[in-house]
Amino acid sequence: MLGGMQDWKLRVTALIDHAAREHATREIVTRWADGSESRVTWADIRHDALRMTQALRAAGIMPTDRIATLAMNHHRHLVSWYGAVGAGGILHTINPRLFDDQLDYIVNHAEDRVLLYDRQWAPIVERMKPRWPTIEHYICFDGADSGLSWPVPHFEDWIGAHDGQTEWADGDERDPCMLCYTSGTTGNPKGVLYEHRSTVLHAMCGLTVPVFSLDTRTVIMPIVPMFHAASWGIPWSGAAAGAKFVYSAVNDPAVLCAMFEREKVTAAAGVPTVWLGMLQHLDQAGKPIPASLTQVVCGGSAMPRSMVERFMRAGIRVAHAWGMTETSPIGSTGAETANWDELGFDEQVTVKAMQGRPPFGVELRCVDLSDATLVLPRDGKTSGALQVRGPWVVKRYFKAETDAIDAEGWFDTGDVAVIHPDGTLQLTDRTKDVIKSGGEWISSVELENAAVGHPGVAEAAAIGVHHPKWDERPLLVVVRKPENDVDETALRQYLGQHVAKWWVPDEIAFVDELPHTGTGKISKKDLRDRFRDYRWRA
Ligand code: AMP
Repeated sequence: MLGGMQDWKLRVTALIDHAAREHATREIVTRWADGSESRVTWADIRHDALRMTQALRAAGIMPTDRIATLAMNHHRHLVSWYGAVGAGGILHTINPRLFDDQLDYIVNHAEDRVLLYDRQWAPIVERMKPRWPTIEHYICFDGADSGLSWPVPHFEDWIGAHDGQTEWADGDERDPCMLCYTSGTTGNPKGVLYEHRSTVLHAMCGLTVPVFSLDTRTVIMPIVPMFHAASWGIPWSGAAAGAKFVYSAVNDPAVLCAMFEREKVTAAAGVPTVWLGMLQHLDQAGKPIPASLTQVVCGGSAMPRSMVERFMRAGIRVAHAWGMTETSPIGSTGAETANWDELGFDEQVTVKAMQGRPPFGVELRCVDLSDATLVLPRDGKTSGALQVRGPWVVKRYFKAETDAIDAEGWFDTGDVAVIHPDGTLQLTDRTKDVIKSGGEWISSVELENAAVGHPGVAEAAAIGVHHPKWDERPLLVVVRKPENDVDETALRQYLGQHVAKWWVPDEIAFVDELPHTGTGKISKKDLRDRFRDYRWRA
């Protein structure tokens, strides 16, 4: 028997249609890098996205073609999200902080045909063009000139040739709409291909109270970049809510704080490093946290307890969430527990300093680290490999030949956690060999490979050590070759020639011996335990 309800497809264009219909005049404010500002509405975003859809079609772009962006947060970038998917294309947001080999790999792997970029990233585009043969069209989002050595249209002129009198591409709700690459682990970056349906379901989850708690009265500043894990879905959820957006194309704490005050921002989302910068700025300026702020969403790395406490003392609701590019990214939310009102303040801070609880649509479990068939109890004590499944969790990476999940649909996150009896998730470690510094990944393995390339190094291991500003920084632990006296300065200089500058470990610890496992591998777990309380000199 068939049910009696309508075939209303869960496609992301329905989100922008809703925003323009029901919240037409709600504003999207952008503060550009040069200090100028734009104010548009959800109706304008839709109209411009339709014009972009026409421009893409005029350029011969077909459904499922990949349309890339290399850009910060601003309203034109938002237009391009809806314009790309509106034409039936797949939006591919590129992180400008990747290095050339990664940029080369992901653009060619994605086979991007169009690239929309910010003027400030023109040097990357100019340098990479010979390595990006698939890109046929370059469009510059902002600035007085394109910054490139060949003629490139400005975004407003490119869409300006069209009138917006068109329809969105139609298709299935399981069609792909967005591609985000994860990087940092060994091997090449991996593409996660979101679908219209998964994105709409995830957007509806994002609206809920434990996540972004969005409605049309919300004034949200998505500090999380639009190139990080689909900007945590805010561009989609925000349209469903008809929230006011406040974007800043620069992540300078002084600028962000000024925008908070002027636009009376009520909610904002970002990684701990960004929040730390803002709190420090406020302290230096002798100012309180802006009174309009009621909700802080923080994720991507563990939120320090002191930060949770600071916000809570200011009467702000903290949502400390866990997620991954592979989980669209909402995996857990900062939901209060059922007994919340009975808890004392310190106990409430303890709850919020953990990674929250899964929303409807996400299932979490921990399994034994050496036997994945052994599901661990939710006792708040037994830690194991964190697994996840649900309709917005990856099944297979883009162009991969095999699934990334087991026979029961569980995806291994590479995180190590305990789950408490009330379902609260608490991350304790990682099995993946990566370091997350200020929200960006550093591959320990690549650092180690670079280090052992030095003639004075016998063995090297890189581990992430807690850092007050960056959450984690790499500490390189090195065993010198016999009779060799290579020192920290020389080794850091050498590494600076082989890895990106921000990857170079701030400090290097020389030891006589590294701990090894029974199979002869360096035991990162033992090493992390040994350096857990390491104090950075600087
Ligand atoms: P990404 O795919 O770049 O968004 O990174 C996802 C990874 O970031 C997760 O697998 C965790 O290792 C880490 N992560 C995300 N949120 C948190 C959090 N709230 N606390 C600790 N680690 C987190």
